[in-house]
Amino acid sequence: MQTDLQNSDKNFSIKPKVLIFGGGPAGLRAAWVLAPFCDVHLYEKESMPGRKFLVAGKGGLNLSHYPPPGGMASVYSPPGFMDAVLNKFSLEALLDWMNELGVGVFTGSSGKIFPEKGITPRMVLQAITTSIEERGCTMHTGCSLQSIDSSNSCLIFQNDVRVNLSADYVVVALGGASWPQTGSDGKWTDIFRSHGIKTLPFRPSNCGVNVSWPDNFVLHHAGKPLKNICLSCDEKSSTGEVLITRYGLEGYALYPLIPSLRKMEEERRPLQLKVDLKPVNNAEQLVSRLGLKRAESGNYRQAFGLQPQSMALAKLLTGKNAFENPLLFAGAIKSLALPVLSLRPVEEAISSVGGLALEEVNSDLSLKKLPEVFAAGEMLNWDAPTGGWLIHGCFATGNYVALSILSRLGIISGV
Ligand SMILES: Cc1cc2nc3c(=O)[nH]c(=O)nc-3n(C[C@H](O)[C@H](O)[C@H](O)COP(=O)(O)OP(=O)(O)OC[C@H]3O[C@@H](n4cnc5c(N)ncnc54)[C@H](O)[C@@H]3O)c2cc1C
Repeated sequence: MQTDLQNSDKNFSIKPKVLIFGGGPAGLRAAWVLAPFCDVHLYEKESMPGRKFLVAGKGGLNLSHYPPPGGMASVYSPPGFMDAVLNKFSLEALLDWMNELGVGVFTGSSGKIFPEKGITPRMVLQAITTSIEERGCTMHTGCSLQSIDSSNSCLIFQNDVRVNLSADYVVVALGGASWPQTGSDGKWTDIFRSHGIKTLPFRPSNCGVNVSWPDNFVLHHAGKPLKNICLSCDEKSSTGEVLITRYGLEGYALYPLIPSLRKMEEERRPLQLKVDLKPVNNAEQLVSRLGLKRAESGNYRQAFGLQPQSMALAKLLTGKNAFENPLLFAGAIKSLALPVLSLRPVEEAISSVGGLALEEVNSDLSLKKLPEVFAAGEMLNWDAPTGGWLIHGCFATGNYVALSILSRLGIISGV
């Protein structure tokens, strides 16, 4: 892409004007790509761009993730939606970009891509915004998009003053609805509904679940991890660790199963989530470790290698009959049915689904009913597990809408 852009011999005396709304990863990448070629203005509702990006970085900022054997696009749903987008912004493209920004990165043992030690999320954000401004984009904060008309005229509130702006092209990158305190409050849907553009209710993704724990279990085990477990739901399974919380469960082994649980919730079916506390052993292997020892908690814990909280969970979810029969008990702890009540609220989730319906966008991510308006990032109804895929997907869609605009302008050929 760099070569295409650098070789372009188009020289605009008056640069086309592009307005970008939303200063998250999607809007920032779009601004970075467009700024050398267009008169780009980025408008952010909050007092600074990238507040959710900073929150995402609190537990270690995953900028991307090494692709799985099926390729990067296989991680995203619905299948196929990200294929063209990721072709134009692969992991290599992200690494090149970080290098250009002076942000050193490393790959963790789990395949996640992090900024190098000593480089904070704030420093990454600063490197991106400084570079965008150096490339000619003007940033405006405290500016909230209110409406867009069919000739790309945008009404904004700039510190409560109404201002009308005109543009050749508009990029909307307004985010989803999780963590509304960062500015991503999903309150933008009326802007599109007024044009008959379909939006879908926001629902949580990458979130915790409410589980019906007895008070005594919460008292003794909330805050403790369940390590090396395998969770399963429908045909899907996920291994790793979850945290027992006062409301239920949270954690990386749970998040990939949220789409299946969400579907069950939407279909008003009971939420079926099973846990295997010893995924690497079968029941017979476990029983052989018990030898001739009696069927009691201490012996099971020692022989099966269960943490106290795992043992407590096993006792909670197996009947007396199973507990007293080692083979039954060993079988039961490999398939414990967790009493899941519901998903946690969208406001608490790492990400959301819903927002702009995908059938409302063309393949270049412009809106069918507002063809000079392009949409990027989490405001579109796609989904991915957390761990770098979300941020990468947002950068990639921002990149793609920028290339689509450059293509419409004849600066590059096709996207
Ligand atoms: C706790 C947490 C942890 C996370 N961890 C990870 C992780 O480890 N890995 C990963 O890949 N992802 C992670 N994410 C998700 C990731 O941060 C988001 O997917 C990503 O920031 C979405 O980017 P975006 O550009 O689409 O939108 P956002 O980052 O949400 O930005 C949208 C921007 O638009 C602005 N805006 C909204 N309405 C208007 C309006 N009307 N006018 C003007 N501006 C407006 C908002 O203020 C906001 O700044 C995490 C998120 C959270 C909350």
